[in-house]
Amino acid sequence: MQIRLASEMTYDSIVDGEGIRTVIWTQGCIHNCPGCHNPSTHSFNEGFLKDVNDVCDEIAAVEFHDGITLSGGDPFCQVNACLEIAKFCQNKGLSVWCYTGYKIEDLLKRCLNEKKIKEFLENIDVLVDSPFIMELKSYNVPFRGSSNQRLINSKNSVKLNKVVLYKD
Ligand code: SF4
Repeated sequence: MQIRLASEMTYDSIVDGEGIRTVIWTQGCIHNCPGCHNPSTHSFNEGFLKDVNDVCDEIAAVEFHDGITLSGGDPFCQVNACLEIAKFCQNKGLSVWCYTGYKIEDLLKRCLNEKKIKEFLENIDVLVDSPFIMELKSYNVPFRGSSNQRLINSKNSVKLNKVVLYKD
């Protein structure tokens, strides 16, 4: 299986979730949020393809980190590949954060018919959800760009089928 990436992974990030994280930059996003800080990641034709096994090998070779962050782009535009990476990390005891322009409420509805979405959410520790809204841009919301975005406890949200926040 292959994944379309925007760039090689970033190591030792402290701004894409708690702790020291390895960031995977997926390519492709449908949301087109005005003011997006990463517009070059929107196209589904740009970036490059990489085998998911190679991504996992690179993650396994990282000597010290707390986990990975799937960013982009929107990882939910490549659910199958991102699910494999998330499962690999969870099996290794690494935490998984994931950014998405979707709202968790909409993803939970899709869980009914799309098993991979459900499985992906079950393998994410913290989901940073919702589109970036320029008018709500804030530097006071850790790990987010605008104040409408939320840090969600993804596993408990699936389990209880309702929004469970990780932190305000
Ligand atoms: S969801 Fe993220 S990557 Fe996609 S347009 Fe919005 S801010 Fe940009």
